[in-house]
Amino acid sequence: MPKRKPEVKLTNRQVRKFLEGIIGANAVNVVRACDFKKGVTDEVIVQKTELKLSSVRNLLNQLHGYGLIRYEREKDANTNWYTYTWFAKMDKIGDVVRSKWQGRLTDLEQEFDFESNHVFYKCTQGCQKLAFELAAEYDFKCPDCGNELENIDNKERIQELMGEMKDLNDLVKKIGAN
Ligand SMILES: [Zn+2]
Repeated sequence: MPKRKPEVKLTNRQVRKFLEGIIGANAVNVVRACDFKKGVTDEVIVQKTELKLSSVRNLLNQLHGYGLIRYEREKDANTNWYTYTWFAKMDKIGDVVRSKWQGRLTDLEQEFDFESNHVFYKCTQGCQKLAFELAAEYDFKCPDCGNELENIDNKERIQELMGEMKDLNDLVKKIGAN
């Protein structure tokens, strides 16, 4: 029997924070102006959000790219213009959030591995940070400015990464990831 996907219920605050993070604060207002069943036109969204039509269209495109809204279009027989009606599809937000967070977690894990397994050198002028092997190839001179490269302690960065990974893991657990 296939494992049933757990139901995703996000608090409004989490949804808001997520949308703000990936698209921007106005995305939240656009989603709020949309409807699940009835659908709204661009113009109605402009009225409700008081944003410019171009901004609304841009945000709608982005939200559509994430699969968070859908549209229906109708051709006006007289003008041949299309009218788009937008519908919220927020039941998908759990999947979108999960895959975003998991992607970020993978990045952090890779960085963590790299930081944990290398010794680092940094230009005294702050241009570059290089792993030992690469720094040695440049004779411990900065490839950008020629200044000394000095050994740096990356314990703090490793601690930071561990903290971020823990927070994300907690979030992923909260939305019931596998
Ligand atoms: Zn330098």
